[in-house]
Amino acid sequence: VEKWDSVPLAPADPIYKLTYAYKDDTYPQKVNLGVGAYRDDNSKPWVLPVVKKATDILLNDPALDHEYLPITGLPDFTNAAARLILGPDSPALLEGRVSSVQTISGTGANHLGGLFLSRFYRWDEGTPRVAYLSDPTWVNHFQIFRGVGIPPETYPYYDPATIGLAFDKYLAFLKSAPPRSVFVIHACAHNPTGVDPTREQWLQIAEVVLERGHYVFFDSAYQGFASGDLDADAWAVREFVKRGVPLLICQSFAKNAGLYGERVGALHIVSPSSEAAVRVKSQLAILTRSEISSPPAYGARVMALIMNNAELFEEWKRDIKTMAERIITMRKELRRLLTEELKTPGNWDHIVKQIGMFSFTGITTEQSLALTEKAHVYLTTNGRISMAGLNSHNVRYFAECLDKVVR
Ligand code: PMP
Repeated sequence: VEKWDSVPLAPADPIYKLTYAYKDDTYPQKVNLGVGAYRDDNSKPWVLPVVKKATDILLNDPALDHEYLPITGLPDFTNAAARLILGPDSPALLEGRVSSVQTISGTGANHLGGLFLSRFYRWDEGTPRVAYLSDPTWVNHFQIFRGVGIPPETYPYYDPATIGLAFDKYLAFLKSAPPRSVFVIHACAHNPTGVDPTREQWLQIAEVVLERGHYVFFDSAYQGFASGDLDADAWAVREFVKRGVPLLICQSFAKNAGLYGERVGALHIVSPSSEAAVRVKSQLAILTRSEISSPPAYGARVMALIMNNAELFEEWKRDIKTMAERIITMRKELRRLLTEELKTPGNWDHIVKQIGMFSFTGITTEQSLALTEKAHVYLTTNGRISMAGLNSHNVRYFAECLDKVVR
């Protein structure tokens, strides 16, 4: 009998562990700033009104069935998803150079993109078989790339001294990395730091990437969530495509449509020719078939309805603004409380400069742990807070607790 004696006990996922600890805590003022999921001003999950509307249309459609989707997904969804990230007038789309397939949300897109590279990227000619990840990054990137046999390494990204971008080091690393290296780059609203390059810096990054022939593996999990504007948050991706940077994009609808558990996403690989795009897509279909056979239908149908209907699309944009603006308001309020009311030592401007779901507060591991243990504020030990966990009822409590631990 196989007793699995040699199977080591794996550690629990840190984010899920935090969520369970928060749920078990009976303290009335407890705050969950761990998980990256949007909450409304009453700490409740928010079903976007446009999603509710689209769901009603979908479920009342007498023709609705539960047949399998095509292997590469619902075309009405993947086509609209490609237009959403690349822009409707994208040269790559107009020239038929994009292979789009539906995936198990952003995670599945990262996995499929990694798997495709592991099979088909030309790692010869002195290019190390490595995926360069930003330091730090979404921790799951490490196991995703390891899992497909592309060892992850890191490139400089965050500078703790400025609580900002280590731009010079980042650029120097891009310049010195072997030609044709693969770089995983967050398209907007960097997780976990909330620190993005400026447009000027993005253009310099594009220039070096082109010069060195690097491959950009864009991870776009927060389009619209960062600024409240879908187009503004896709700016870097579109600019890179326009300049002919070789790239792919992992796209998630978890955050911007609040469809976390429905697992709605897509992978878009941009090729130099439409012929190549057909070949690439044929291989993506084989990889998808062996892993999930075909993707889930429900969330893709909801998003296809929203993105292909002008009225629903406008309503979605308003819902995205609602979320982004609430988060931006919390950033301003937190900074105001710390700087103006509590006179907390240190500079807190980074709270309003950072964008998206997360803020890197810059506090130490010890201070983060003290917040959890003494104040019932749950956050990861790297000092990252999910801005979506703050609201008008708890922001003052959090600011006061933060003030106490940094004094
Ligand atoms: N990439 C990044 C950078 C993320 O932050 C996330 C969500 N935490 C994802 C990808 C994937 O999320 P999902 O699979 O829920 O779309």
